[in-house]
Amino acid sequence: MKIWLDGGLQDTESARVSVFDHGLTVGDGIFETVKAADGRPFALTRHLDRLTRSARGLGLPDPDLDEVRRACAAVLEANPMPLGRLRLTYTGGHGPLGSDRGEHGPTLVVALGETTRRPDSTAVVTVPWTRNERGALTGLKTTSYAENVVALARAREQGATEALFGNTVGQLCEGTGSNVFVVIDGELHTPPLASGCLAGITRALAAEWTGARETDLPLDVLERAEEIFLTSTLRDVQAVHRVDDRELPGAPGPVTAKAMRIFDERSGADLDP
Ligand code: PLP
Repeated sequence: MKIWLDGGLQDTESARVSVFDHGLTVGDGIFETVKAADGRPFALTRHLDRLTRSARGLGLPDPDLDEVRRACAAVLEANPMPLGRLRLTYTGGHGPLGSDRGEHGPTLVVALGETTRRPDSTAVVTVPWTRNERGALTGLKTTSYAENVVALARAREQGATEALFGNTVGQLCEGTGSNVFVVIDGELHTPPLASGCLAGITRALAAEWTGARETDLPLDVLERAEEIFLTSTLRDVQAVHRVDDRELPGAPGPVTAKAMRIFDERSGADLDP
């Protein structure tokens, strides 16, 4: 496998990043996961826009998007696979121990892993921890993901593939790596960005294509929603058939099935909308 590091392709086995890289020591970094079917990245422009927004939110220099595009193309060409996940990581770079950034420039790594299409439906759990809708990192796709790692492990223990968070005022927010949609009285809703959720690219496309409304929703909406689905780069639109102990028989229900169909049709037609 080849990855992109220090301005060129390198062998994954021998590529080296400093052990003092701030991405490693203090989680000072941002990332994107981009789906690539047959070597073509999906919605790359949207991912690069979000990468730039995350960099600015952390006070990192703007990434050189020409280099990032070249890196993605080179890594995809060097590692052909039917369905891949590009991982773009951009960190504060080599620095002193502690939180002050050093003099070195940022580190950019672009790697590729193989992935498969996810099942049409899955089980989720809620977790007792909250997303902070007003934190310094809210809405930024940072490498400080340990909270998501812990919550996802909790979900796995309960036979689920995703954990859903409420925020500090008890509203439904998002999953560890996905956004959430619910159907109430036949209408499709998703929490607004003010809930503290990430501005998911799949969320934005699914909301635009289905006409879903952004609505403040209490966390316990999950106990009565007629349908629930998740969106993310690697899940696309995925129905939820169990939330905690509640079964949702027949998932995907009609609204979710329609959203899945629309997403499949439109995302196949234009890989960089
Ligand atoms: N929320 C979080 C916390 C995420 O990490 C992700 C994706 O990784 C999403 C939502 C979904 O975003 P996207 O659709 O852009 O993959």
